[in-house]
Amino acid sequence: MTRRRARPHYDNSIIGPRYDSASFYYTDQADIRENLHKRGSPRGRYGRYHNQSWELVERRLTSLCHGDDSLVFASGMAAHFTTFVSIVAAGDHVLFPAESYRVTRRIFLDVLPRFGVHVHEYSVRDPQDLERVMSRGIPAIKLAHIESPSSPHMYVTDIEQVRRLLGASTVITVDSSFAPPPNFHALDHGADIALMSATKYLNGHGDLMGGVATGRRDLMDRVREYRDLTGPIMDGHAAALLDRSLDSLQLRLERANRSALLVADFLEKQPAIQRVYYTGLASHPHHELATKYFRGHGGVVTFDLDLDRDRTASFVDSLDVPFIASNFGAPQTLVEQSVMLTYYAYSDSELARVGVKPGTVRLAIGFADDPEVIVADLAKALQRL
Ligand SMILES: *Cc1c(COP(=O)(O)O)cnc(C)c1O
Repeated sequence: MTRRRARPHYDNSIIGPRYDSASFYYTDQADIRENLHKRGSPRGRYGRYHNQSWELVERRLTSLCHGDDSLVFASGMAAHFTTFVSIVAAGDHVLFPAESYRVTRRIFLDVLPRFGVHVHEYSVRDPQDLERVMSRGIPAIKLAHIESPSSPHMYVTDIEQVRRLLGASTVITVDSSFAPPPNFHALDHGADIALMSATKYLNGHGDLMGGVATGRRDLMDRVREYRDLTGPIMDGHAAALLDRSLDSLQLRLERANRSALLVADFLEKQPAIQRVYYTGLASHPHHELATKYFRGHGGVVTFDLDLDRDRTASFVDSLDVPFIASNFGAPQTLVEQSVMLTYYAYSDSELARVGVKPGTVRLAIGFADDPEVIVADLAKALQRL
């Protein structure tokens, strides 16, 4: 009996294999010397370091995102955190946006300062704010994090201008979970690393958690070292699902871009709606920047109802089509009143800081839903007000 099982003699399956292995064998001590010690030919070693299903999808992501190398993670936050800690050390100064994913903001406000990192918050609503923050005499900036477009108002950051302002030595990371390629290629505009929650559009089916970091070779080598050390890895099955999803990414985004623009157009014409935040509309404060950076404006439409907290809640409750849930990029349409879900624990002053109002509603159009049906549902709920 041999435990070294023979492999099938073909490898021409159109769909990539799904690997879930905790460890990989060597044939003998010479194999170890040649391929582990001297790294002669690529060999799997252990499941925290290597998985062929990750590697297949990482290669596709590298080409999709125009990076040198890509890594997948257990979640978007795992990609963010592993990347940040691989770059910063005690005493470094970092910049991060107030208008960013709530949990990312907490990493900067509550976690990194515990390890001696100096954090500086800037607002993306005012394009001059970053310069104002910098003019306070901050020493060299090690890391500048950007979220573009930003949650939930889809503010857009002029990354090329940030690069000019900070110079070449600052590492710029861009979270573009709301606008993955082909809508937006952050790495083409001066970002060093693009970060994305694969839970959102990249996977797009609402059935897995994942994260991606992609970018400059030297930095990715360091991120890889930290992923190897700390283990926030995606499992092989999730990687294979993500690989499947990339086949339809462009189709799904095109559909989301079209559907959301239609819904945003409708909402903008409704008197009960104070303001619509969709970068595809000329009324969005960053529409021009968005036209420069994005090929499409995605499937998330945020709007402010001219209503208090309770009446906005009743409006959301009266919708029939969307699920009340905080995610986006899924087949189903999802809706949330921001002060009730994502920002429920924020005080009034914190809400003012990030620009979220009691009447703020985030609608994430599902690619499987007919936009006309969503419009009809919104029209009916508006009529009831
Ligand atoms: C969801 C999200 C994240 C975090 O990703 P997870 O997969 O939920 O960990 C980060 N940034 C943005 C903009 C997001 O929407």
